[in-house]
Amino acid sequence: MILIVGAGFSGAVIARTLADANIPIQIIDQRDHVAGNCHTYRDEETGIMLHAYGPHIFHTDNKSVWDFVNQYTTFMPYTNRVKSTTCDQVFSLPINLHTINQFFKSTFSPSEAKTFIENLADKSIDNPETFEEQALAFVGQELYEAFFKSYTEKQWGLSTNVLPASILKRLPVRFNYDDNYFFHKYQGMPKEGYTQLVENILDHPLISVKLNTAFNKNQINDYQHVFYSGPIDGYFDYAHGRLPYRTLDFIKKTGDGDFQGCAVMNYPDADIPFTRIAEHKYFTPWESFEKTVYFEEHRRSCEEGDIPYYPIRLVKDPEILETYENLAAKEEKVTFVGRLGTYRYLDMDVTISDAMDVAKDFLAVRKKIA
Ligand code: FAD
Ligand code: UDP
Repeated sequence: MILIVGAGFSGAVIARTLADANIPIQIIDQRDHVAGNCHTYRDEETGIMLHAYGPHIFHTDNKSVWDFVNQYTTFMPYTNRVKSTTCDQVFSLPINLHTINQFFKSTFSPSEAKTFIENLADKSIDNPETFEEQALAFVGQELYEAFFKSYTEKQWGLSTNVLPASILKRLPVRFNYDDNYFFHKYQGMPKEGYTQLVENILDHPLISVKLNTAFNKNQINDYQHVFYSGPIDGYFDYAHGRLPYRTLDFIKKTGDGDFQGCAVMNYPDADIPFTRIAEHKYFTPWESFEKTVYFEEHRRSCEEGDIPYYPIRLVKDPEILETYENLAAKEEKVTFVGRLGTYRYLDMDVTISDAMDVAKDFLAVRKKIA
């Protein structure tokens, strides 16, 4: 029997892959639901599908991941379009030709806009390492300050010159009017939410799910192997200190009709305490509701007892991360997986693809031994 700690995508995908290879699985989660941070539920008052731990949009270029999730639910077409309220106007994100023309009060063609932005970009930065360098080399000072600087400082609680360039590389800049927030080939929303999708992945006679159950290290002896998707520092009882995370406070509001006219509105201005507002009925455009529910997202540093949302990766990561990684490598009976177990900022598709690889590697080693 194998123990899997955490019933998010990491745990669920490993559980299913191993169960399909005839291995019995015990999966536990300390929460009262599966799906980890991707958990969705219907709001009692309005019937709207809510994303309990922040909005989740499925997007990927990885066909095997897309095929995998489509085996377990129906995905509805959904394209994420995000707006940004800054400098007293509403702009389209990611930065595209509409954003550029509106911001600079111009009527550039794609090639004119490209040349214009190239001229604004800081050409002295060859190899951007920090978020700030990446932004200045990418779009220049004005767009950086309007859209990225304060948003990022609110989001991460740190100066943009200690955050890595990789954070900004998640976002494209486009010289056409395409305002799809993502650049991946496949994008969609599970028709009945992520929790139902994960429940379906876990629906296998060899998988037993126990909720409201926290991991205890003594359990390791009762199992052949453990896959652990909880926090890596938590596993070692924070013996070398806590890894830094950002946590989120969601302020829920309910109203009639339509609040903001789109799924996500970002607020980069420094004097607004939240980073964005997500209006969840927009994530199911095939459904209609008279009322609406929206959440302000306030970000702050994660203290003991808070939910760790975003691992804070820096240009120079803290030494304790390496200490924990070295300790983890020595735990022969435990494999550390997922967002918290590997302390990485992972989208769902990467989480699933990594989990598939971990399970396949495990099966390959088992086969070799047998
Ligand atoms: P988790 O979902 O965190 O699951 C880990 C589980 O382990 C949890 O249920 C937890 O309760 C359990 N656990 C932890 N410790 C213990 C313990 N000691 N004992 C028992 N159980 C334990 N990705 C996208 O692709 N698209 C998006 O739009 C998107 N939006 C996001 C928005 C926000 C605000 C955040 C923070 C992330 C977003 N992500 C998005 C990323 C997505 O949430 C992750 O990829 C995914 O949740 C990772 O799954 P996981 O199983 O590794 O971790
Ligand atoms: N970002 C920003 N302004 C925005 C949106 C994003 O500066 O309007 C930065 C911010 O640092 C964020 C990163 O770009 O962490 C990646 O954005 P994404 O929307 O992918 O963040 P997530 O959905 O994970 O919060």
